[in-house]
Amino acid sequence: MVNDQKHIDEYFETEEEIEGEGKTPPFQTPKGVHDILPHDHEFHTYIKKIVRHRSRQAGFKRISTPIFEFTEVFKRTIGEATDIVSKEMYTFEDKKGRSLTLKPEGTASICRAYIQHNMKDLPQPVELFYYEPHFRYDRPQAGRYRQFWQYGFEVIGESDPALDVQSILLAYKIFEDLGIAHTLKLQINNIGDLNSRKVYVEALRDYYFGKERYLSEEDKIRLQKNPLRVLDSKYEDTIILNQSAPKFKDFISPESQAFHEEVLEYLTDLGIEYTENNSLVRGLDYYNQTVYEFWDEKKGAQNSVGGGGRYDGLIEMLGGQPTPAIGFAMGIERVIAQMKRHKVRVPSKDDLHVFVAQLGREAKKICIPLINQLRDRGVRSMGALGKGAIKNQLKIADKFKAPYCILIGLTEVRDQTAIIRNMIKGSQRTVKMSEVVDEIIKSVGKENLDFYNPQDPIDL
Ligand code: AMP
Repeated sequence: MVNDQKHIDEYFETEEEIEGEGKTPPFQTPKGVHDILPHDHEFHTYIKKIVRHRSRQAGFKRISTPIFEFTEVFKRTIGEATDIVSKEMYTFEDKKGRSLTLKPEGTASICRAYIQHNMKDLPQPVELFYYEPHFRYDRPQAGRYRQFWQYGFEVIGESDPALDVQSILLAYKIFEDLGIAHTLKLQINNIGDLNSRKVYVEALRDYYFGKERYLSEEDKIRLQKNPLRVLDSKYEDTIILNQSAPKFKDFISPESQAFHEEVLEYLTDLGIEYTENNSLVRGLDYYNQTVYEFWDEKKGAQNSVGGGGRYDGLIEMLGGQPTPAIGFAMGIERVIAQMKRHKVRVPSKDDLHVFVAQLGREAKKICIPLINQLRDRGVRSMGALGKGAIKNQLKIADKFKAPYCILIGLTEVRDQTAIIRNMIKGSQRTVKMSEVVDEIIKSVGKENLDFYNPQDPIDL
């Protein structure tokens, strides 16, 4: 084995490593976006399998919406005064001057699709899940990207505290399967129904009336468009002013309070620990009642791994009939970072079983169909079919960490044989060419063969 060679997977592991070589390539990804290299794809594949399994078990079906929508879809729902709409959208005009936006999140598009495809005529609730890229012109930093992946789900058409809890439970189960549930804590709040929010908004307007001079220009605009967003302000003077502002909890109607208490009771029964967090409002306007996030409490709100909430008014905002709904979304990059931080290992299906090395044109003629046959029988195989000494080909086999190597040189061509080399032990034996595939399968183990069954309902 050539142990001093850097393994190919490690080479692919991080972008820094390539940058660390000292040469800056002429082209790099734009700020805030990143390539998903093979090592991280192993995480994505693993996460996809888990979310698909858990979603299906709970009756969800997959949906994909376009990468861009009419800008209005997001403006109307997420809210013009939110950071997402006011600062973070990738908005552009098409050739006919229509305003389009790369989707910054999934829920608004799914509700647009719910209305467009008359999903109200389906049995309710309609349960949908997605695994999609989203785009926000966010300030790039650890865990904050301009293109990021989200898995999420929506339950549309019914309202009951039990549905809120079932959503939280599904998210929790996924985190459990991913091996990170114990590192996260559920933060939960109830931000009231639409009516109590209206009353609260008026109380906020009254409170800020006459105090505008203490607000930043941005907060003044927020105050006009949606006073709730002033509470999210990051300006020091506004933060001080906010400390004495009326509190949400004093405006929540008895119905919302009862709804919230029921949610908390179910959570306790299920043994899901939570922190009641009165300042959790989430940065999108369409939420009402239950809102929740999963945080690594050591890292706080900036690193929410996932979150969701009820949005009973959203479908109406888009022109549909009043339809209650609740959803959840988690950031895949943050999930992967959390898994890596806690040393969760994911299985790799990329490892080669066998590497085929050859010498001479006649040997190559044998190798091409041999590799084809090996692959057809489920053996992950690769060959160095270019020119090069067998010794060098073996070095390559070693870099790819192939446990077995088949060697075919001039003697083997003449004798109709092949050499099977065990790359771990360094031993080798000669077998008849007609038996080499069966011999390799025996060594690899039938249970490890890589077969694809087109009947498997794989759609991710
Ligand atoms: P949101 O759509 O804002 O409720 O976000 C849901 C989840 O998506 C968050 O909890 C994060 O895990 C993830 N997320 C949101 N914004 C970003 C971003 N800019 N980069 C990476 N992940 C993000």
